[in-house]
Amino acid sequence: SLYILLILPGSTAMASPGQKVVLITGCSSGIGLRMAVMLAKDEQKRYHVIATMRDLKRKDKLVEAAGDTYGKTLSLAVLDVCSDESVKQCINGIKDRHVDVLINNAGIGLVGPVESIPIEEMKKVFETNVFGVIRMIKEVMPDMKKRKGGHIIVVSSVMGLQGVVFNDVYAASKFAMEGFCESLAVQLLKFNVILSLIEPGPVHTEFEAKMIQEVKQRECPGADPDTVNYFKNVYLPSSIDIFEVLGQTPDDIAKVSTSIVSSRPRFRNLTNPMYTPIVALKYADETGGLSVHAFYHMLFNLGPLMHVSMTAMKYLTCGCLRSRTISPN
Ligand code: NAD
Repeated sequence: SLYILLILPGSTAMASPGQKVVLITGCSSGIGLRMAVMLAKDEQKRYHVIATMRDLKRKDKLVEAAGDTYGKTLSLAVLDVCSDESVKQCINGIKDRHVDVLINNAGIGLVGPVESIPIEEMKKVFETNVFGVIRMIKEVMPDMKKRKGGHIIVVSSVMGLQGVVFNDVYAASKFAMEGFCESLAVQLLKFNVILSLIEPGPVHTEFEAKMIQEVKQRECPGADPDTVNYFKNVYLPSSIDIFEVLGQTPDDIAKVSTSIVSSRPRFRNLTNPMYTPIVALKYADETGGLSVHAFYHMLFNLGPLMHVSMTAMKYLTCGCLRSRTISPN
């Protein structure tokens, strides 16, 4: 890491007194990139952002978007959430190991019929989305507890609250983080450390492109033809429709993160108001049948109708729903 500090001007920058140090994981693309840039561009210069990524060869998009904040309120560091060594090295490289705000953003998706996905691939999702986040928290939390202050943010998903067909393992990983955070938040409050979750619905990032590409290419060995048909010809088109109509931009999510960093945040932060009734449906019926059957009908019986109504909604809402978010306050 010393080598990196020497060659990258952006990494030598240090927080000025009074500035909060914000460390974000997974900043080479998508939501993490926009969060890093938005916080670094704060007009009052309240933050020093340490934007981290696995491979600094992928820094160009971030550096370009950061503009003249690069090397001032934004610096770069290498961090792979799946490696103990990388996480330790990164945190040890920060002055006094002082992180005021940790934003756990790095994550990977996985879609497909369960019977066609090797366990190893599922473990990778848990390694990143679950143990990656826990590893970061373990490294940063003890110092926050000692200092009696800090803020940990976890980018979960609507799929951490409501499962979605063919996203079984991804949803399980986000559910795991919801349970982890619900448990830890209570203890941390005693140390004046705040924990909050951000739960986006669909967001237009590489995540979506990777998902569509993956579904098209996936051969699904081990899955029967009916399942493959439902996956490719029923799930995929409805998923594309949903992204198209309900998808938010990474900036929408970055705005929510900036707002919860700057004020006392709520524990849960659903970014897309369209998902509030879906989550409510789950708690409205204690047997769970209502949710399962509603999703079943939506996918298998109302599929074509849903396409029509989604398209109609797209034109009727003229994009205003896509940009509207619930204010965390
Ligand atoms: P993305 O693929 O653009 O960004 C994810 C980032 O994480 C990438 O830069 C990737 O390189 C990085 N990453 C992956 N493994 C890593 C590791 N081991 N160490 C460090 N970095 C690693 O997608 P995104 O949509 O910006 O995703 C960001 C977060 O938002 C994820 O946690 C994802 O689960 C969550 N999310 C995304 C959506 C969506 O629809 N895009 C919806 C809800 C939640």
